[in-house]
Amino acid sequence: MARVRFAPSPTGSLHLGNALTAVANRQFAEKHGGDFVLRIDDTDPTRTVDEGDAAILDDLAWLGISFDEGPVRQSERGELYAEAAKRALAAGEAERDDDGAARLARDGTTLVRADGTATYQLASVVDDLELEITHIIRGSDHRPNLERQQRIARAVGGILPEVIHHGLVLGPDGKKLSKRHGHSSILDLRGDGFPAGAVRAYLEELELPEHDVHLDLARLRRLAVDAIAAMTDEELTEAVDAPLELAPVLRGARSLVEAGEYARLVSKPAPAELPAEAALTLTRFLELRSGAPERLDHAEARALLRELKAVGGDLRALRLALTGAATGPELAAVLSALTRADALARAERVGRR
Ligand code: GLU
Repeated sequence: MARVRFAPSPTGSLHLGNALTAVANRQFAEKHGGDFVLRIDDTDPTRTVDEGDAAILDDLAWLGISFDEGPVRQSERGELYAEAAKRALAAGEAERDDDGAARLARDGTTLVRADGTATYQLASVVDDLELEITHIIRGSDHRPNLERQQRIARAVGGILPEVIHHGLVLGPDGKKLSKRHGHSSILDLRGDGFPAGAVRAYLEELELPEHDVHLDLARLRRLAVDAIAAMTDEELTEAVDAPLELAPVLRGARSLVEAGEYARLVSKPAPAELPAEAALTLTRFLELRSGAPERLDHAEARALLRELKAVGGDLRALRLALTGAATGPELAAVLSALTRADALARAERVGRR
């Protein structure tokens, strides 16, 4: 049975490349019927930020990545590392410096710092052995650590599990993905309104890239449209904190941010400035809408819009009157989301200006 681990440092919301590592480990565990262990590599205070691990747990929950064990925190496992260092010293595989630090005899890699704390190199290897990890799956930026970690594993009396390095996620321009690109972390993508399902699907599609990949925003945007289409009315309205009745209005949105804007256009329209020619449209609309039922379904709303057009109505003016904006959700969906009283009040309000 496979046992894999995802071992982020608690530096805040996951970088997209780290999220790929998480997804790849989860997929590997599914495929091989194994367990996924979450380990938090918090031995290095300079790489630990407040609430950094909470942000990671939040990202994983948002992406729907569950773990079978953990979080295992390295900061709570100092004794294990100290014992392992002792074994390496006793076996002559490690040497003690004058300042008390312990180093691997063969290549000088620091295992234990002068203050007695374990380095990432030692802690990671000891945990991979102690947690009985069968496959280490991580980004290729860790390839330079491989041989050293294999030596450390032997020095503490074990064998490093099999290691699979995957390509990194670079920015669309092929440079290292960074804040400058604006989509470097899960929190960024969330803020941009990409649904979790789209981000997860994108990372799953990449599988275990052998080489570095460029972030394909066009693909991610297409997946966002698919993911929104696959959401139930409940999920979609809940994601943007809108009432359930507004679901049809949100359907054409390409991101959750846009869906949120659509909801606002309907529930809290901005005041609209209409040209004088719009008066005709509004008068005709008032007539047609007064004569129709309190609620219109989508087909009825479309029929009313067709009639309005047939009598010379300008649908752009109507959109402005009803939503306060020149673009937005499908007009028939807006019309069927508004009660007769609401629709009339909006048309009358701008009509009177
Ligand atoms: N804490 C390391 C990182 O975030 C983990 C490296 C590893 O998977 O071995 O890059």
